[in-house]
Amino acid sequence: MPELPEVQTVIDYLKKEIIGLKIKQIEIKNEKFLKNTVIGIFKEKLINKKIVDIKRKGKYLIFELDNSLFMVVHLRMEGKFFVDQKKINRKHDYLIFDLTEKFLAYNDSRQFGTFHLTDNIEELKELKKVAIDPLDDKFDVNYLKNKLDKLRKEIKVLLLDQTIVSGIGNIYASEILFDAKILPFKKANELSMDELERIVVSSKKILKLALKYNGTTIHTFSFGENKTGEFNKLLKVMNRANKKCYICSTNIVRIKQQSRSTFYCPQCQK
Ligand SMILES: [Zn+2]
Repeated sequence: MPELPEVQTVIDYLKKEIIGLKIKQIEIKNEKFLKNTVIGIFKEKLINKKIVDIKRKGKYLIFELDNSLFMVVHLRMEGKFFVDQKKINRKHDYLIFDLTEKFLAYNDSRQFGTFHLTDNIEELKELKKVAIDPLDDKFDVNYLKNKLDKLRKEIKVLLLDQTIVSGIGNIYASEILFDAKILPFKKANELSMDELERIVVSSKKILKLALKYNGTTIHTFSFGENKTGEFNKLLKVMNRANKKCYICSTNIVRIKQQSRSTFYCPQCQK
């Protein structure tokens, strides 16, 4: 599943390729991706409109059109965008935008991705629920303290909750807690201010580093043809069960939290 660095990497790539291009035609092979609209209205609102900007909120991609309309996309598990010079009928290409000189294809083998249209991004309920992300200046120790104060859940589980902090998924949650030297199953309301501060610092550090390396390529994340993230090489605990910790040589442990794998070092993390 793409997390903040992967979504931002996709946006940076798309901005280079398609800003300023006009949507000439749209082919929709499966209507299930359209959530608050139907094929006829979707086409009517988007055709002949120019893509003027692409922004991000949490893991949502927000395409801004020149008629003050926004197309809001969530990639979920396997959604991907490709920009092609000619129309390619790839397996699992479900929406294909003809941009006059290029084609923007939305590909999704699992079919969990979503498309919403809105003329007011402040009002779209899917976006309203999304909290600020760690790269936001407002994400600091007081923000986190306020959000976690009364929650007795495990910190790793809460880092994945997009209504508390957005953009962190399973890979970076393990990496952030390793960097912050905090055990993933510690209860959120029992964390000290010093521990919360470490989580804030490590969240910003890990996500910025991942962005610099264009994200992490875990099986299917890619952006553009043959372009993949390079952060894999920097993962310290993720997918390293029973391998030696780079810092203390203790074996990395894998546990399940809410049916998702968590990786941590029992020696370095307290
Ligand atoms: Zn260690």
